[in-house]
Amino acid sequence: MGRIIAIANQKGGVGKTTTAVNLAAALAVTPRRVLLVDLDPQGNATMASGVDKRELANSTCEVLLGECDAAGAIVKTPEGYDLLPGNIDLTAAEIRLMDESAREQRLKTALGPQRGNYDYILIDCPPSLSLLTLNALAAADGVIVPMQCEYFALEGLSSLVDTINALKGKLNPALEIEGIVRTMYDVRNNLANAVSAELTKHFGDKVFRSIIPRNVRLAEAPSHGQSIVGYDRASRGGIAYLGLAGEIVRREKKLSKELA
Ligand code: ADP
Ligand code: MG
Repeated sequence: MGRIIAIANQKGGVGKTTTAVNLAAALAVTPRRVLLVDLDPQGNATMASGVDKRELANSTCEVLLGECDAAGAIVKTPEGYDLLPGNIDLTAAEIRLMDESAREQRLKTALGPQRGNYDYILIDCPPSLSLLTLNALAAADGVIVPMQCEYFALEGLSSLVDTINALKGKLNPALEIEGIVRTMYDVRNNLANAVSAELTKHFGDKVFRSIIPRNVRLAEAPSHGQSIVGYDRASRGGIAYLGLAGEIVRREKKLSKELA
C-alpha cells in the first residue's frame, strides 16, 4: 500500500512545489513507484513535470468533482513518476465543492484505488489552509513541511502544527508530521543557522538531516519542464534531493523492521 504524503506549508514560496517535484523524481530513481498529485491551481508541479497545464484532458478538478476517476486523469512523465495534473480549474472545483457533502474526503476517496499501484503518493498543496489543502491532509498518512529558516518561520510552523493537531481529531486521526525539510539554505547566513538550531531543538528527529541548499539549478529546472534529476542531477540541489529520498527510504525500511 502506497504511503500518501502531503507537502504542505500555508506560506507561499517556501519550496513546496520544488520539493514535491524533485522528491518524486528522486524517489523514482531509488527505484520506487511514485505518483505526484498537483493540488495547486497554479499548476506549477504539472509544468515542472513537463506536462502542459493548458492542455489537460482531465485533471485533479474533474477527479475532486467525481467527474472522472484518478486512473482517467493520471499521465506518465519523462521523469519516471506518474502525475495527476492540476491547473486553474481547481479554483472552480473548490468553489463547487463548498456545497457538497464529505467535501474534505474527496481526494482520499479518489486515491483509494490507486494506493496499490504506488509506493509513494506525494501531494503538492497550495499555499493556504483552504479546502484543497484540507483534502490533502484528510487523504495523507504524513505531512512533509518544507521551510525556509527565516525569522518568522518557527511561528508559522507552530500554527501549521496546531492545524494538523486540530485536524487529527476531526478528519484524520492517523495524520503525522513525517518530517520538516530545510529549504533554500545558505550556511553563511547566521540567522538561518540560529533558526535551524532552534528547529532541531524543538522538533528533534522530525527534522530531516538532508538540507536543501539555495541552488540556481533548482530554480532553472522547471523552465525546462524537468526535475533536477533530469536537468542536472550532479548539482548541489540534485544531490540534496537524492539524499532526502534516500533518507525517506531508509526510514521506511527501519520502520518495517521495527514492525516485523
Ligand atoms: P512554493 O511551492 O512553496 O510556493 P516553490 O517551490 O514554487 O515554493 O519555490 C518558490 C521559488 O523559489 C521558485 O521560483 C523556485 O524555483 C525557487 N526555489 C525553491 N527552492 C529553491 C532552492 N533550493 N534554491 C533556489 N531556488 C529555489
Ligand atoms: Mg507551489
